[in-house]
Amino acid sequence: MKIGIVGCGLVGATAAYALVMQGVGRHIVMVDRDQKRARAEAEDIRHAVPFAHPLEVVGGDFVDLVGSKVVIIAAGAGQKPGEGRMAGLGRNAAIFAEIVPQILRYAPDTVLVVATNPVDVMTHLAARFAAASGVLPARVIGSGTTLDSARFRSLLGKHLGVDPHHVHGYVIGEHGDSEVLVWSRVVVGGMNLDDFCRRQGLPLDESLRRQMDEDVRRAAYRIIEGKAATYYGIGSALARIAKVVLGDQRAVMSVCTHKPAVAGVEDVTLSLPHLFGGSGILSTLPLPLAEDEQEALGRSARVIRSAIDELDAGI
Ligand code: NAD
Repeated sequence: MKIGIVGCGLVGATAAYALVMQGVGRHIVMVDRDQKRARAEAEDIRHAVPFAHPLEVVGGDFVDLVGSKVVIIAAGAGQKPGEGRMAGLGRNAAIFAEIVPQILRYAPDTVLVVATNPVDVMTHLAARFAAASGVLPARVIGSGTTLDSARFRSLLGKHLGVDPHHVHGYVIGEHGDSEVLVWSRVVVGGMNLDDFCRRQGLPLDESLRRQMDEDVRRAAYRIIEGKAATYYGIGSALARIAKVVLGDQRAVMSVCTHKPAVAGVEDVTLSLPHLFGGSGILSTLPLPLAEDEQEALGRSARVIRSAIDELDAGI
């Protein structure tokens, strides 16, 4: 029941805090290039334990990851105001080349959960580095559009007056500007969205959809403009993903993982609804898409693939 966190800045530390608040696992090891920071974050979070769940939280080094069932990777530079998620790609790629083999050296049976942005490309790279250590791509999961799906559901839930837990809808593709909100497959209480809205007498016209789409797609930019970083949403999402893996819960979430081909694009990593559990990704669920959504997914896959190509050309 051990969870490792590599990269204990705002995202990694908030994930650790969320794990303690949710009572996920028994032992958290926090590793950072800045060891003083990792130890300080661990000590601070440990002081929340008496008010939450009985977990051990310690700062450590890669060697202390031995026995981790899940390792969350949030190492890298955060997105700066006005900066796209692709901006720090080269910097973060170099960090992953260093840390992924280190993690797998001590925790070869772990499931890697990547948060570092641009998360689809970083998950692709992590799977590539992991393959060199003999680890299957299914054991490498990125948070992908988990957070965007949560934003979509929370906005829809607010508009519909329904607890977002009971609004099922996915954002797929890139965790970024080209992501695709799958309006055609939103389900509330077994009803499709249009039927639900008609029945409840709620408006959901094109301009309202456009506004919600913009609110989901631009959320990170808005938050970063106001407070320089986002971490509560992603920290909670990472804790949830870790809980699914640790408990082999077989959840369906829009995490990202490597795909041989999607929408005509080969060898790419992006988010689709995935069934996953203790051994990582179990299967990809075929979400039937409307024609415009299918085209948008193809565009999104191409955005990720070209970022991978650019990165490979620069190496
Ligand atoms: P941060 O700068 O606060 O923390 C990054 C941490 O990584 C630092 O503590 C740094 O010391 C550490 N680090 C750097 N190189 C390292 C190495 N080689 N080994 C170990 N640790 C190393 O940044 P943050 O706000 O926590 O964001 C972290 C990452 O998460 C960024 O890439 C950010 O864009 C991403 N993020 C992703 C999502 C998502 O939905 N996937 C959401 C928010 C942020």
